[in-house]
Amino acid sequence: MSLMRAVTFPRFGGPEELRCTEVACPEPAAAEVLIRTHAAGICYHDVLSRGGHIPRDKPGQILGHEIAGEIVGLGAGVPQSRLGERVVVYVRLHCGHCRYCLGGRPDLCRDSRVVGEHGGGGYAEYTTVPSRNAVRVPDGLSLEHAAMACCPIGTSVRAVLGVAQAGPGDVVLVTGAGGGLGLHQIQVAKSVGAHVIAVTSSDSKVETIRAVGADEVVVSPDLRFSAEVWQRTGKQGADIILENVVTGTIGESLRSAAQNAAIVVLGNIGARKVEMDPGLIIMRRLRIMGSGNATYQDLRRALHLMATGKVRPMIDRVLPFAEASDGHALMENRATTGRVLLSGWG
Ligand SMILES: [Zn+2]
Ligand SMILES: [Zn+2]
Repeated sequence: MSLMRAVTFPRFGGPEELRCTEVACPEPAAAEVLIRTHAAGICYHDVLSRGGHIPRDKPGQILGHEIAGEIVGLGAGVPQSRLGERVVVYVRLHCGHCRYCLGGRPDLCRDSRVVGEHGGGGYAEYTTVPSRNAVRVPDGLSLEHAAMACCPIGTSVRAVLGVAQAGPGDVVLVTGAGGGLGLHQIQVAKSVGAHVIAVTSSDSKVETIRAVGADEVVVSPDLRFSAEVWQRTGKQGADIILENVVTGTIGESLRSAAQNAAIVVLGNIGARKVEMDPGLIIMRRLRIMGSGNATYQDLRRALHLMATGKVRPMIDRVLPFAEASDGHALMENRATTGRVLLSGWG
C-alpha cells in the first residue's frame, strides 16, 4: 500500500486541528480517475466541516471540494486518452441514473453529496472521483484558477445565467457584493451585458467592487438601500436581485425589485427565518428562487469565461498545504478578499 501526504483533523475544532499526515493513497475503482492534486480552494463550507457544523461529517476526513489537477491513473473502463489530462473536479458526486441526473441537473440529485463532505477531498496529494466528475481545463487556464471554476465561479454562473437567466440590459442588483460570491457574480453578469448595481455595507470594499466591473456601487451601512436603488433606476427597480445576505436585507431587496423581477436566494448568513410582505410579492409578481451548486453546463461556461478573461478569479493568496490551518483561520475571520488556495507540499 503506498502512502500520500494529506491534511486531516483528528477532532472537530479550530483551525489548529488541521495537520499534515500520511494516509493510504486511494486507487481508482472502475469508471474512476486518480487525480494528482495541484490546487485546492478553501471554501467556507470546509471551515464549517472542520468545526463540526455539517451533519454526518466525521473527524479525520480529508476536506476540500475545489480541486484541480492532473489525471495520473485510470480505473477500468476509462479511455486511455484521459491520462495526463488537466482537470477540475465537478463538485457533486451524484447517482447518474435519476431523472435529475439524466435531465442535466445533477445538482438536484437526491442521491448525491459534495466531494470531501464525507472524506476523499482535495487537501491531499491524490484523490479519486468518477471520470465524469473530472472536467477538462482549457489550455492556457492555470490549474490554480481552474480550482475555483466549479465553486465559487460555477455557483455564480448557476445563479446569474442558469436561475436568473440574465441578459443584455437587465438591471442586476447584488447584495453582499464585496464577498466571494458577489465579486464573481458581478463579473458573470457583466459578461452578458447586464447593468450591475452592487450593494455593500462598508466603504472598504468599494474599490474592489468597482475594479471587477460593477456599474454602480451603493454603500449602505444601515442596509436601507431600496430608496437609492429606486432613484438610480428611474423608479423602475432591478430586474434581477442576487441575494447573498438575506438576513437584514431581503425586505429592502423586495422593495428594490422591478415588476416580475427574479430574486435569487443564495446566502444564508444569519441562518434565521425572515419576514416577507406577500402583498408586495403579489403586486409586483415577484419570482423568488433558490440557487445552489453548478451544473456541468455551468462549469463549462465558467471555464470559458475564465479562459477568455471575462471572469477573473478572486484569489487572496496561495499557501502550501502544510499551512492549511493558517488558510482556515484567514477564511474563518473573513480576513481575505477572495479565496485562499492550497498548492504544493513544500
Ligand atoms: Zn466551495
Ligand atoms: Zn441522480
